[in-house]
Amino acid sequence: MNKVNLTASVLLMGAFTACQPATKKETEKKAEEKPFPAFDLANLDTTVAPCTDFFQYTTGGFNANNPIPESESRWGQFNILMEANNKKLKGIFEEFSGKADLPKGSTEQLVGDLYYSGMDTAHIEKLGLTNLQPTLDKINAIASLDDYFALAAEMELHGIQIPFGLYVSPDQMNSTMNVLYAAQSGTSLPDRDYYLKDDSMSVAIQDAYKVYVAKMFELAGDDAEASKAKAEAVYNLEYKLAENQMSRVERRNPANTYNKMAFSELVASAPGINWDVYTKGLGVKSDTIIVGQPDFYKYLSTWFGEVSLEDLKAYTRFKTLSSYADQLPAAYEQAQFDFYGKMLSGTEQMKPRWKRTLGNMGGLGEQIGHLFVDQYFPAESKEKVAQMVEDLRAAYRDRINTLSWMSEETKVKALEKLDGFSYKIGYPNKWEDLSSLEISRDNYLQNIMNIAEYRSHENYEKLGKEVDKDEWHMGAHIVNAYYNPLNNEIVFPAGILQPPFYNPNADDAINYGGIGGVIGHEFTHGFDDQGSKYDVNGNLNNWWTEEDKANFDVLVKQVIDQYSAYEPLEGVHVNGALTVGENIADFGGITLAYYAYQKSREGKPALEPIDGYTDEQRVFLGWAQVWQSSQKDAAMRNQIMTNPHSPAPCRVNGPISNMTEFEKAYNCEGDETFMRPDSAKIVIW
Ligand SMILES: [Zn+2]
Repeated sequence: MNKVNLTASVLLMGAFTACQPATKKETEKKAEEKPFPAFDLANLDTTVAPCTDFFQYTTGGFNANNPIPESESRWGQFNILMEANNKKLKGIFEEFSGKADLPKGSTEQLVGDLYYSGMDTAHIEKLGLTNLQPTLDKINAIASLDDYFALAAEMELHGIQIPFGLYVSPDQMNSTMNVLYAAQSGTSLPDRDYYLKDDSMSVAIQDAYKVYVAKMFELAGDDAEASKAKAEAVYNLEYKLAENQMSRVERRNPANTYNKMAFSELVASAPGINWDVYTKGLGVKSDTIIVGQPDFYKYLSTWFGEVSLEDLKAYTRFKTLSSYADQLPAAYEQAQFDFYGKMLSGTEQMKPRWKRTLGNMGGLGEQIGHLFVDQYFPAESKEKVAQMVEDLRAAYRDRINTLSWMSEETKVKALEKLDGFSYKIGYPNKWEDLSSLEISRDNYLQNIMNIAEYRSHENYEKLGKEVDKDEWHMGAHIVNAYYNPLNNEIVFPAGILQPPFYNPNADDAINYGGIGGVIGHEFTHGFDDQGSKYDVNGNLNNWWTEEDKANFDVLVKQVIDQYSAYEPLEGVHVNGALTVGENIADFGGITLAYYAYQKSREGKPALEPIDGYTDEQRVFLGWAQVWQSSQKDAAMRNQIMTNPHSPAPCRVNGPISNMTEFEKAYNCEGDETFMRPDSAKIVIW
């Protein structure tokens, strides 16, 4: 369910058992591995001064030594760690997929058999379109819009895209209760701007997209001419949806997307949708609903009134084929890769089959994470990171107390929110029971459909019930972290609690700059331009005085302006308004890491430099190290248009160029510096 949990902010680009100690096997494996260096000097580019361009200084050598593999569009420390986790997962998958007699419904059976089915390419070729045929037949038989809406519900349950969608999530004004939301949808390019822009690159992408759509029709049996005509019709329908969608920048603001109304009001505003048939098909009933984009729904009603049944059938057929391209014979997967991988991301080659299969197993994320931590998560990491979370919280408390732009009145509220943050580290306290989910060894596509349907029902069944605050929204094996404003909580899966983020063999300064910076980043999401609108209980509820809010808004505007000036590709600027929340979190991340480290050194004797770097300098090396990466131009363009995270160079130089703490640590002087002049330095948290 990609529409669930829209509000959580992730770091990148996002139990029935108690602690499981590392097994002996793992201890032996570790002994064989080379220890990860605290900071590898070979990653530096010493032809550039740290004060001129700290990103290039800390990453130039890394990028020269670590070219982007052909099967990737971006390559960096995140990827290398994910790659290491994936190799461990491969071992787990191979072990369990090799056993055909695991207890039905057990975590091992579900994961092992799903993997087996995904790797059995000969069988997938043999099945062809067999599994989708009943759906394709129903699409062919559509004789009225009512037929369509009945089928649309079925498609929604199976994870096939339709132009709109309902989902259940906590009420942003009353975050202990689950309520029904309606969201815009219906387009397959990554953002509305991909349809609306008319520069030469955008037009080339639009043309390539039409070729991809036509290819899907051809593969499913249409002749070339009919396929081309249908692709044109599909594109035109999506274009109209895109024109009426709310932009990403507008969607960041909950004031725009939180539109609570009686369900009858939504029905009255969009009478062209047969809500009765559709909601009955989903098995959902609610008197109220929060509509994300009311204008889109009004337009959608017109869209359905104008579309011909033939075009609607073509659109629906394409979405069905496209949603399941990864589970269909190789030709479908190749067509999808040629567009999304090559054209949109600049990737030259497909990843190997096992990685593609792993990439399609996200519906079993919690189960995969469970098997991962059972074997690979040392319990002692959890305690050390918990201590760092408290250190960062203490540093944040000090910082809030010293802020000159915030009144005492608002500080009391900010500290109340800070003290109310909860955190989760490693993996869930209880694992979910999926024993009723049907996964077989011989039907990959049906397995993925079953998971989608299971997850849809699971989501709809939460309607009107209390929110389960113990729930995780990320697998424990994932290299990422998130802040969930509705729970006022920060979450760090086991996957990220490893080098270079957290390195048991590194000096504290490096770890404070690494995982400390990540923890500070997630804390700061609770105080970024949107997160700060939620109170200690996770509700949209203003706790700011008018004057303090006005002061904060001035600082936010300065951050927007700073990043909007960055131009990572010629003519392509960072979208300061889209990325401002993440940028504020990065400012907080490295600032808090620095001060938490200082606090940890209070009353202790000064440390000798390591590799010629003082411990203060090494905090910044630790931060820069986690962003060591490069990416293809196409991927950069895609990121800038769709991703709330700034490109890696901006994540290092952006915050640091405002920090006198960095300036002092590295003795930055003279004209050739990336540091902003004192009069322009932005200090928020
Ligand atoms: Zn973030």
